[in-house]
Amino acid sequence: MRVLKFGGSSLADGGKFLNAAKIIHGKSKASAIAVVVSAPKGVTNTLETLTETLPVKSIRKKTLDEMKKGLKAITGFLEENLSGFNAAEVNAAHGKRLDEIATLLTGAVMLGVCPANIKAEILACGERFSARILKALLVALGRDAAILEPSSFLVTSAEFLNAVPNLAQCREKFAANPPGSEKISILPGFTGVNEKGQLTTLGRDGSDVSAAVLAVCANADCCEIWTDVEGIYSADPRIISGAALLDDLSYQEAMELSNFGARVLHPRTIGPLAQFKIPCLLKNSMNPTGKGTRISGSAGTEKTVKAITHLDNLTVVNVVGPGMKGMVGMASRVFAAISREDISVILISRSSSESCISFCIHNRDAQKAKNCLEEEFELERKNELVYPISFKKNLSIISLVGDGMRHKKGIAARFFSSLAQARVNVVAIAQDSFERSISAVIAQHRSIDALKVCHQRFFSHKHSIDAFVIGFGTVGGELLRQIGQQQGSLNDQGIDLRVYGIANSKGIHLKPEGIDLSKWSKGEASKINKFTIDTLKEFVQNRHLVNPVIIDCTSSEEIARAYPKFLANGFHVVTTNKKANTASWDSYLAIRKAARQTQRRFLYETNVGAGLPVIDTLQGLLRAGDRLTQFEGILSGSLSYIFGKLDDGISLSKAAAIALDKGFTEPDPRDDLSGLDVARKLLILAREAGMPLELEDITIAQVLPDKFDNSGSVERFMKNLENVNGHFQRQFEMAKKEGKVLRYIGRIQDGKCSVSIEAVARDHPFYGVKDGENALAIHSAFYQPIPFVIRGYGAGAQVTAAGVFSDLLRTLAWVQEEPI
Ligand code: ADP
Ligand code: ASP
Ligand code: MG
Repeated sequence: MRVLKFGGSSLADGGKFLNAAKIIHGKSKASAIAVVVSAPKGVTNTLETLTETLPVKSIRKKTLDEMKKGLKAITGFLEENLSGFNAAEVNAAHGKRLDEIATLLTGAVMLGVCPANIKAEILACGERFSARILKALLVALGRDAAILEPSSFLVTSAEFLNAVPNLAQCREKFAANPPGSEKISILPGFTGVNEKGQLTTLGRDGSDVSAAVLAVCANADCCEIWTDVEGIYSADPRIISGAALLDDLSYQEAMELSNFGARVLHPRTIGPLAQFKIPCLLKNSMNPTGKGTRISGSAGTEKTVKAITHLDNLTVVNVVGPGMKGMVGMASRVFAAISREDISVILISRSSSESCISFCIHNRDAQKAKNCLEEEFELERKNELVYPISFKKNLSIISLVGDGMRHKKGIAARFFSSLAQARVNVVAIAQDSFERSISAVIAQHRSIDALKVCHQRFFSHKHSIDAFVIGFGTVGGELLRQIGQQQGSLNDQGIDLRVYGIANSKGIHLKPEGIDLSKWSKGEASKINKFTIDTLKEFVQNRHLVNPVIIDCTSSEEIARAYPKFLANGFHVVTTNKKANTASWDSYLAIRKAARQTQRRFLYETNVGAGLPVIDTLQGLLRAGDRLTQFEGILSGSLSYIFGKLDDGISLSKAAAIALDKGFTEPDPRDDLSGLDVARKLLILAREAGMPLELEDITIAQVLPDKFDNSGSVERFMKNLENVNGHFQRQFEMAKKEGKVLRYIGRIQDGKCSVSIEAVARDHPFYGVKDGENALAIHSAFYQPIPFVIRGYGAGAQVTAAGVFSDLLRTLAWVQEEPI
C-alpha cells in the first residue's frame, strides 16, 4: 500500500486534478493506493478570511458565489475533457456544502465572532470539495473509489484548530475497521475528530499530517507527498533561484527543516513516519518522472549542511532581572506559564549568567504570553527582581540544517560571517544539542537577504556584485564594455557580476534582472527613473541585492557629497571621481567613518595614476609600518603626453591639440593645464600618507604663464595656446642646454606639497617618462636612498576602466571558500 497526498497547489484547476488522477490511476496498477487531498489552492485561505473577518451578507454571498464559480470551472473542465465525469452530481454536492457554509457564517455573524468549532467545520470544507471531485474523476477513469471518513479513525487532541493526532488511537480504530484495498480510498486531509467525536482541524497545511497518519495506520510502504516543486531543495526554490534539489534527507533533517519553516512539509508530518520507519517521497505532480526527494532513516551520502530555512512572524520574549540569577525554578515557571496557555516555543536561548531567559514564539501568541508572564511574575516585578518583560516582534529564524554538521568545524563561523556580510544583526542564537541545526534570530525584513548570502556561502559558492554605474562617458562607457565582456568568465569563476542600473545626471535606467550590456544603448539611461539615493535604496531592498556597489565615473561634486549616505545605506563606493577625496578634511574623514560603520568599502584606486597600483600599494606599505618621507610624481597622463611631445620638437599648442583629440585630456584641457588635477592627486596621496591638508595648502604653479588669457570657449582657448608656443620653446631650449627635459611634477617634501614644471636630467627617473605615462617615486623609510617607482600609462579609458573594474572586484570581501 502506498499513500499519495496531493497538496492544494497540485489541485489548483481542472487540468491539475486530471493530472493527479492520472498519477493515482497509473500507480494503482502496481500497488494498493490510498489518497489524501488538500483543498483546491486558495480555498482554505478564503474560508479562513471569511471566518475571521465575518463580512456583511452581500460580501459573504459574493465570496461564496465566486468559490462556487471556481469549483464549477474545475468540474466544467473535467466534464469537457473526460467522458463519464459526472459534473452535475459533484456540483450539486458542492452547492449543498456551500449553503451549509453560508448558514454557519450567518450564525457566527449573529454571535459577533466565529467560535473555533464552527471555524473548523467551515475550514474543513475545502478538502471535502477536492475529495468529491477526485472520487468522480477516478470513477470516470474506471476505478472504484470511496471517501475515507476522517472520523472513522483520525482521532486527535481536543482543540478544534490545531489538533494533534493521537497515533495510538488512530491505529487502533483503523485496524478495527480497515477500508478495503480493492477501492481507492480518498481521505479528505486536514481533518480529524476529537475524543468527543467533534470535528477538528490539524493546523494550516495539515493535510501532510493526515497523509503521515494514514501511512502509519495502513502500514504503507511509502508516503508520497505530491506538490508543486521537484522535492526538497537546499532552500525555498521560490526565493533562492540557485537552490539545489536534495536526493536524500534523514527523518531528523526533514523534521528540523519543517520545524524551521520549510513549508513544503508540515512540521508534524515526519514524526509518525520516522517512528514507524515509513519512507517519505516528495514529488512534483507536474513532473511525475522526476526523481524527487526521499526521506528515510539514512541521510544519504550528501553534504554536511543540507539546507537553510527561514521562519517568519516570530517574537522574542526576554525575561530578565537580578532575581533570576541562581534562583531555582525560574525557567520552569516561565515555560509552565507559557505551556498553560498552549503557546508553542520555537527556540530557547539562555544567557550563561542565568539572568536572562529568551525564547521565540509566534507573533500571534505574543499578547497571550505577555498576559500570562506578567501574572506569573507579578510579585517579582513589584520587587524589581524581574524587569518588565520585553517583547521584540517581527523576527525570523534562519536555520542551517544537516546531520553531518556534527563535529564539523567552521560552520557556525561561516554562518555568522555570512549574516555579517548581509549586514544582518543577530538577536538570539541557538544550536540543537545534536548539532543538526544552528539557528539565528534576526529582523524579519532582513531574512531574505540573510538567506541569500548564507545560501551563496554554503551552497552555490557564487558571490554576487550588484553594480550601479553612474556616468557613461569615456571611462564609464569603457567600463560597461569591459564588464559585458567579462561577465561570462567571471561567472565561471563563481562571481555573478550584474549591472542593475546605469545613470547620468538626467536619470537612471534600472533593470530588476540586471541590464544586458550587449544590448544596452546610451539613450536608455535617462528615460526611466529619477536618480536619487532613495530610488536606489528601494530597488536594492526590493530585489534583496546583498552586495550593491555604486561606481561613480563622473566628476560631479554632488554625487561625491552623497558617498557617506550611500555607504550608510549599505552600498560600497568605487570611484574615479576625485572630488570626494579632495573636499574638506572633515568630509574626507566622514566618508571613511561611514564605510567603517557599515563595513562597506570605499575604493578609489583610479584617483591617482589611473589603473596603476598606487593607492593600494601605498596603503599596504603604510600598514606594514613604512613612512612616506618624500614623493615626486608625474601624475597627469595628458601633461606627460604634452611635455613629452615638446621633447620631440612639437609646439605646445599642437601637442595639446593632439592630446585633446586622443581623449587624453579632460574635455576642457584647462582643467589639466591649470595644474588643479595634479594638485588634487597630490593631495590625495598626501592625505593617504597621513597629512591632514586641504587643497588650498598645495602650492600650484600652473603650466601656462600667469598672464595667459584663460577665458572663452575651448576652441578659443586652444587657439590662444599658439601665443605661448615661443615661451615654452625658450624654456625647453634652456633645459636642453643642460641636458635636461621639462616635466610637470607634483612633489611632497618637508611636509609641503607643490606642483610645478621642473627640468630633469638624464639620470632622473622621470627623464624618459612621456607619451601619457605616469611615474611615481615613493621615498619612504623602507625605500631609500633609491625610491620605489611605479610607472606606466596613467590615462586612457581602457586602463582607467580596468582600474575601476579591479576595485569593483575588491568589494568581494569574502574569498572563494571550500564547500563544507
Ligand atoms: P502544497 O500545496 O503541495 O501543500 P506548499 O505550498 O504547502 O504545497 O509547499 C510547497 C512549497 O514549499 C514550495 O512551492 C516552496 O515554495 C516551499 N518551500 C519552502 N522551503 C522549501 C524547500 N527547502 N524545498 C522545497 N520547497 C520549499
Ligand atoms: N487546506 C489546508 C490549508 O490550506 C490544509 C492543507 O492544504 O494542507 O492549510
Ligand atoms: Mg503544504
